[in-house]
Amino acid sequence: NKTILLASRPMGMPTSENFKFEERDVPTLQEGKVLLKALFVSVDPYMRGRMSDAESYVAPYTVGEPIVGGVVAEVIESKIPELPKGTVVQGALPWQQFSVHAGEGLIPIDPNLAPLSYHLGILGMPGLTAYFGLLYIGDPKPGETVVVSGAAGAVGTVVGQIAKLKGCRVVGVAGSEDKIAYLKDELGFDEAINYKTTGSIKEAISNACPDGIDVYFDNVGGEISDAVYLRLNNFARIAVCGQIAYYNSTTVPTGMRVEPILLKKSALMKGFIVRDYAKDFAVAAKDLSAWVKEGKLKYQETITEGFENIPEAFLGLFSGQNTGKQLVKVAER
Ligand code: NDP
Repeated sequence: NKTILLASRPMGMPTSENFKFEERDVPTLQEGKVLLKALFVSVDPYMRGRMSDAESYVAPYTVGEPIVGGVVAEVIESKIPELPKGTVVQGALPWQQFSVHAGEGLIPIDPNLAPLSYHLGILGMPGLTAYFGLLYIGDPKPGETVVVSGAAGAVGTVVGQIAKLKGCRVVGVAGSEDKIAYLKDELGFDEAINYKTTGSIKEAISNACPDGIDVYFDNVGGEISDAVYLRLNNFARIAVCGQIAYYNSTTVPTGMRVEPILLKKSALMKGFIVRDYAKDFAVAAKDLSAWVKEGKLKYQETITEGFENIPEAFLGLFSGQNTGKQLVKVAER
């Protein structure tokens, strides 16, 4: 029963040295508990924040303790009547092949609704994040221009497609030619910019948005955002979802001041955490699963095989190795 612990807190870019593999006994099952076998493990950028002990919106991981995150698992033994053997659940679980759990917070999954892995992506936290950030903060109207950074990732791919469903002109920013081709050819983005090769990002954004920008869904921050701010229209809305460009910074990020632009353009900028919208999760989940079922939302995953490759899959998020949702498949059902 392999488990992965936080070995040390990273300074700057994390490495495999920050993780430690350990062999643990498969626990014996007590009353009121289930034994779970992990099937799919989600690796997410926010976990970088939890590896550090800086104050944030989720508690830091403890050095020497297992990393915890989104996992889809199967109940293989049960002493909880509501979660019989064979039930598939999603929940916050340790990076561990087998674990014992009291059931609280585990969400049973209907295996007939969609592939199990979707519950960690488009039908899970990243899909909900895209939905609320775009629709509740961005509030896109037909004909408006929407820009999304981190466009080819788990959240970004869903943001751009929902914006297309709402009748917007959609411009994505991502980091490889394959991703650019995917956004334009497969997902129907109107324009996509490779921020790594484009030269002046300001010029590229300006050319791609001849009518200015009404909604910016920001997954990244940094110079991409600065270029977007310069092209905002009156009454623009900015949903600050992620700032991955800074997650490995060791100094306080500095740059262009955005306040004069927000003022001049009567623009709204709002940070959010997906759980802020927990009361509406059911509504969003219903819309997202309907759109997936009707083929209106396409979905892409990068699935790494093998429990031992979890740290590597996580680290790959910071060099853009994933297109769509990055997952690790650790066992067959
Ligand atoms: P992604 O699937 O988008 O994976 C991360 C991607 O970020 C990489 O593939 C890479 O793509 C890009 N990237 C990495 N480093 C940089 C950099 N320095 N500059 C620009 N791009 C970079 O992850 P998610 O979709 O899961 O998450 C996207 C963002 O949303 C993250 O910032 C995350 O923290 C945030 N988030 C926020 C939530 C909330 O509640 N507010 C909930 C979920 C996610 P590329 O090849 O394009 O560089």
